[in-house]
Amino acid sequence: MKFVTDGMLGKLTRWLRMLGHNVKYAKNLDDKTIIKIAKSEKRTLLTRDADLYQQATNQHASTFFIERKDKVECLASLSKRFGLKLEINPDISRCPKCNAKIKQVKKPEVSQKILPSTKAHYEEFWQCGRCGKIYWQGAHWKRISETLRKAERVMQE
Ligand SMILES: [Zn+2]
Repeated sequence: MKFVTDGMLGKLTRWLRMLGHNVKYAKNLDDKTIIKIAKSEKRTLLTRDADLYQQATNQHASTFFIERKDKVECLASLSKRFGLKLEINPDISRCPKCNAKIKQVKKPEVSQKILPSTKAHYEEFWQCGRCGKIYWQGAHWKRISETLRKAERVMQE
């Protein structure tokens, strides 16, 4: 899906990109511009700002109010509302940092750019086509999966 997120939702922006969604992070943009982006680029506006939500609704922009601060509840509510899959498929994931698509790369292509300990422990790597950041399913991967599983449970309650 295509979203635009307000400046308060940096973390959620990264989560949605990891899940494969095209998310424009409207940091430091005024409300008028954010609503314009939502409408012209057919993006659903996600916001925690009640006033912005109201404005967007009045102007018939697709929008969703993020009520909860907790990331698990946040992901659960989005999944419920939009039917988002709460699992990460690296084939469709986007770079959490810049929103470009990531692609799988062969280990020798990135071996100069990763720490020897990473090189020793992991075989699969992905790289962002725009900013060049390299990803692998390291220690943080466990936490990511746990968060998604929790969100899944909350959603089914
Ligand atoms: Zn990137």
